[in-house]
Amino acid sequence: MTRQAWLNGVFLAADEARISPFDRGFLFADSVYEVTAVYGGQLIDMERHLDRLQRSLTELGFALLPDRSEIARVHRRLVADNAIGEGYVYLQVSRGAYEGRNFPAPDGEGMRLTCFAFAEAKPLIDTSGARHGIKVISVPDIRWGRRDIKSTGLLAPVLAKTEARARGADDAWLVGADGFVTEAASANAWIVTREGEIVTRALSHVILAGITRHSLFDALMQAGGRISERSFTLEEALNAAEAFSTSATALVAPVVEIDGVRLGDGEPGPVTRRVQAIYYAAIGVEAGTPGWLAAR
Ligand code: PLP
Repeated sequence: MTRQAWLNGVFLAADEARISPFDRGFLFADSVYEVTAVYGGQLIDMERHLDRLQRSLTELGFALLPDRSEIARVHRRLVADNAIGEGYVYLQVSRGAYEGRNFPAPDGEGMRLTCFAFAEAKPLIDTSGARHGIKVISVPDIRWGRRDIKSTGLLAPVLAKTEARARGADDAWLVGADGFVTEAASANAWIVTREGEIVTRALSHVILAGITRHSLFDALMQAGGRISERSFTLEEALNAAEAFSTSATALVAPVVEIDGVRLGDGEPGPVTRRVQAIYYAAIGVEAGTPGWLAAR
């Protein structure tokens, strides 16, 4: 089946989509994106993704915003047309293409956006990472100062993930110059201390406000859980009982090793398993929990 994409108001075969080389997303990474998970053919947390998209664009001073209800419709149609049961929809909005290359962007009337979206089928729940956990390495966080904006300037995470792969790990956790973990290369980072405290960094400009983080927060609170929003050092993470990361494309991923140090017995721990079960139930995973999780 040819993959259907959407570019500037038109649905088309993905390999027929054409974007100008003068596009500011290409020249300057002057663009933002969203990745929305799909499970059971349903978009997970669509409204929150639309809120964050709008916030990213507004923070970057986009004078023009895409139509919110059209973007939501496009997401639903891409899920349907591409028959996505489980996977994600990617959306990118750039400040557009103009002749030449000028750092300041046209604004007001002269502005036009480039909007592109596609969908991809991908297992989110029954993955090796979710079942058995992932190994991460730590790397210095060399990103810019506005990580709360979901910009496509992703060179630092590209390098971090490439290094992780070269070192036989699955992902990287980013550590600030102050020794505190900011987040994972494309996920939020969480630890469970030996006292059972569930910890994740507080929101600020130094991390992305993950939608999965937000929804997990709500689900854990509803289940009577408690979360400490505070910074933790790499050393505290290495000494934690358990750890996990959250993102739209891996949901809740147990972290079983950091820099070659096994956490606990090197298997996803009981708190992380419970967190997975609570999150999966919250997004309507059939029968509450997958068999491999329930059987434990
Ligand atoms: N932090 C960073 C740096 C990310 O790139 C992402 C997702 O891409 C996240 C956190 C997790 O955000 P979400 O749960 O909205 O996918």
